[in-house]
Amino acid sequence: MRTLEDLDVEGKRVLVRVDFNVPLDEDRRITDDARIRAALPTLRELREQGARLVLAAHLGRPKGREEKFSLQPVADRLAELLGEEVVLAPSLDDVPDGDVVMLENVRFEPGETKNDPELAKRYAALADVYVNDAFGAAHRAHASTEAVAHLLPSAAGRLLEREVSTLKGILANPERPLVAVVGGAKVTDKIGVLEAFLQTADRILIGGAMCFPFFKAQGREVGASLCEEEGMEPARKVLASGGEKLRLPVDLVAGKEFSADTETRPLDGVDVPEGWMGLDIGPRTAAGYAEVIRDAGTVFWNGPMGAFELAPFAAGTRTVAEAVAESDAVTVVGGGDSAAALAQFGLDDDVTHLSTGGGASLELIEGKALPGVEALS
Ligand code: ADP
Ligand code: MG
Repeated sequence: MRTLEDLDVEGKRVLVRVDFNVPLDEDRRITDDARIRAALPTLRELREQGARLVLAAHLGRPKGREEKFSLQPVADRLAELLGEEVVLAPSLDDVPDGDVVMLENVRFEPGETKNDPELAKRYAALADVYVNDAFGAAHRAHASTEAVAHLLPSAAGRLLEREVSTLKGILANPERPLVAVVGGAKVTDKIGVLEAFLQTADRILIGGAMCFPFFKAQGREVGASLCEEEGMEPARKVLASGGEKLRLPVDLVAGKEFSADTETRPLDGVDVPEGWMGLDIGPRTAAGYAEVIRDAGTVFWNGPMGAFELAPFAAGTRTVAEAVAESDAVTVVGGGDSAAALAQFGLDDDVTHLSTGGGASLELIEGKALPGVEALS
């Protein structure tokens, strides 16, 4: 993969694809600017080398030109962080001159998600060089992440470079034991990752609602727990080949409803009574997982251990997060909700690498080629 070392940017206009897909509240205020901050090293480096920047980014999933998906709040926040004026271009036909210009949401253009070569040409016409730093969008072949990379001298930015080398490093040459902690809502979201880790990891620790298709496949009662039907077949396969590597929870915390003020009940075991839902791993499970994490050489964590957004069901995720933060291992965390959990506990600076890409990090771990990365190779 080409990097900034391979590009001459002095005095040039550089089109930089960034991942500024940040969460906004109802008043369109940014609630978490981590993704904007993550792009700063690349943007600063390019500016220091005398480049003028044209930034391209998407926000949400607009259907055509929808004002509520405008990048204006992002441009304003970036200007504060960068300490420079950031001008938002109203359209591709009206891109003002300036040291730092930001294009409007690339998904306002119908050709963007179709990887339209004509749209890519219009992007390319705005710059001399192309840099992709949008790791979170690198698993999509879109006009601003893929097609345009073939039309200009192109390379990866520092964030994309670090994400790819860290995540590939986990698979290629991990410090052992390699421990994968996989949780979250659905097995089907993570099955590719589980299969990859069945090959490479020394231990796989399962948590979150994802454990219920496993338990159901084992013939246990899951009560009213979130239990994905389509997850049962993949779960069966993983159970069949997991052997000693695979660990499932041994106790749970249940609740009557998915709510913070619901009645709760610890379960010593993993059979969930009728009318109850398993909403967190129990303390014995969490302590056991923490011990494995403590002795790890490398930890990859994706997916919360429970409904951590609800205080009564956050303890399992917190215990695991603290173990990851305190571990001497190389620790890599991927996934939007896992990152949010770390931030909620104030531990987001205590891991080796917090990936900015959810889907992209999973696909890399699965061993898939990312179109946005391939285009720079
Ligand atoms: P990530 O974004 O880190 O990849 P996921 O999106 O896969 O994680 O899963 C996170 C979601 O899973 C959270 O919203 C959390 O509330 C939910 N979740 C985890 N465990 C449970 C559970 N036992 N019951 C219901 N929801 C759960
Ligand atoms: Mg998620």
